Amino acid sequence: MNKNVSSVCDRLREQATDYALMEQAKEYALEYMRGVQDRPVFPEDEAISGLEVFREPLQEEPSDPYEVIKRLHESASPATVAQTGGRYFGFVCGGIAPAALASKWLSDTWDQNAGMFVMSPAAGVLEDVCEKWLVDLLGLPENTAAGFVGGSCTATLCALAAGRNHLLEQLGYDAGKSGLFGAPEIKVVLGEGAHSTIYKSLSLLGLGSERIIKIPTDDQGGVRADAVPELDNRTLLILQAGNVNSGAYDDFESICKKAKAAGAWVHVDGAFGLWAAASEKLRHLVKGVELADSWSIDAHKTLNAPYDNGIVFCRNRDALVKALQMSGSYIVFSENRDGMIYTLDMSRRGRIFELWATLKSLGKRGVEELVNDLHDKAVYFAAALRDKGFQIKNDVCFNQILLSLRDSDSTERALKLVQDSGECWCGGSKWEGQSVIRVSVCSYRTTLEDIDRSVAAFALAREKVLG
Ligand SMILES: *Cc1c(COP(=O)(O)O)cnc(C)c1O
Repeated sequence: MNKNVSSVCDRLREQATDYALMEQAKEYALEYMRGVQDRPVFPEDEAISGLEVFREPLQEEPSDPYEVIKRLHESASPATVAQTGGRYFGFVCGGIAPAALASKWLSDTWDQNAGMFVMSPAAGVLEDVCEKWLVDLLGLPENTAAGFVGGSCTATLCALAAGRNHLLEQLGYDAGKSGLFGAPEIKVVLGEGAHSTIYKSLSLLGLGSERIIKIPTDDQGGVRADAVPELDNRTLLILQAGNVNSGAYDDFESICKKAKAAGAWVHVDGAFGLWAAASEKLRHLVKGVELADSWSIDAHKTLNAPYDNGIVFCRNRDALVKALQMSGSYIVFSENRDGMIYTLDMSRRGRIFELWATLKSLGKRGVEELVNDLHDKAVYFAAALRDKGFQIKNDVCFNQILLSLRDSDSTERALKLVQDSGECWCGGSKWEGQSVIRVSVCSYRTTLEDIDRSVAAFALAREKVLG
C-alpha cells in the first residue's frame, strides 16, 4: 500500500471525530423544529420540484460531508411533510415524543445491531423490559412474547406465520420442513374492513387472497358477530382493533370465545386502536381482546414513538419463535434475549431505545392520558366540522373521523382545497361507496387551536365548493 496517498478511508476517519459536523446537523435539525408549526403542512409545489436536484448520477469522487448534509437541509427538508407539527391528520401517523426523538439522536450514535444479545446487550435488555411493560400496559396474557419490528405490516406477517404453522402442527404437519404443498388446507376468515396489509401478509404466506372468507361488517366497519362463519381447528381468524377508516372495533369477547372453542387461531390487527387498552375510559372498546392468540400494534402511531416501531405479540412464545427460526423445533432460549428470534430480520437497528424512551418518559398515566387526549380531540374536531356543515359518517369511538360534503364530487373538491391550503393535511378514502375525507388525530402535538385553525380551512373549502 502506498502510505503517502491519503485514502478515502483516511478522510472518513478524520470525519469520524469532526464533532463540528454533528453540531452542524444539530443546528439544521433545531432550525427545522423551530419552524415546523409555521411551514405549510404539505410541501408546496416549488419545494417538491426542488427535489429534482437529487436526480443526478452518482459522482465519481467523495463529497464534503458538510455539503452532503447541507444539501439535505436545503433541498429535502422543505419537501418534508410537517408531520411532527400539530396539524397533520393524514393516514394514521403519530408525532414524535420529545424524549423519543432525543433518544434517537443519542442511540443513533451507538448504531447498535439488535439482532442478538452478544451484538448489543443494551438492546437485548431493553427489549426484555419493554416486552413486559407493554404486555402489562395492554392487558395481554402473562408471558406473551413480543417481537420488535418495523411496523404492523411485518408484525402481522410474523403473527400469521406463527398461526399458520401452529395450526398445521396441531394437525400433525410441519410446514417449516415440508412447505405448504402437501399441507392440510387452512381456512382464512376476516372482516370486510381488513387493512390491505393483511392481504399482503396472507399472499406472502401462501394463503392466497381469493380463498378468504369475508365477514360482512356493520355500518361502522366492525365485523358482524352474528355473521361469523363456522370456525374450526384449521381456521386463521383475523379481527381488528381500529378500522383504518372509522376506527371501529370488532366484538372480541363473543367472537374470540367462539373461536377458542373451535380451536381456531385469532390474530388482532391493533395497529393504532389496541392502545385503547391502556385507557380505563376506552378499554371497553377492546373488551375480550386478550383472548386472542396474536396481536400487531404500532408504537409509531398512537404512542407517538418515532418510525419505525411496530410490535408483534404472540401468546404462545414457542409458536412465534418456531415460525421465524430456521432451526425448526430445536429452539434453545438463551438466558439473554436474542431479539432476532422474534422477528424476520437478523440485523436490526436498535429501535427499542426509542420505544423504551417513549414509554419511560410517559409512564402508565402518560400513555393513558395521551390515548384519551387523542380521543377527546377527535370528538371536538368532529363536532366543529359538523357545525360547519360537514356530515360526520362514523361514531367517533376513538381517533378517526370520516366526513363528507354533499356528494363524492363536492367532498373530493373540498379535500383538495384543504390539502392545498397548507393549513392542515388529511387524506381521502371510500366509505360505503362514496368519497370521504378521513381525519386521524394521532399526535400529542395537536392543540384545540390547531383544530380550530384546521376547521376554518375546511369551512372555507366548503364555501368555495358549495358557493
Ligand atoms: C397502519 C395500519 C397498518 C399497517 O401498519 P404499518 O405500520 O404501516 O406497517 C395495518 N393495519 C391498520 C389498521 C393500520 O392502521
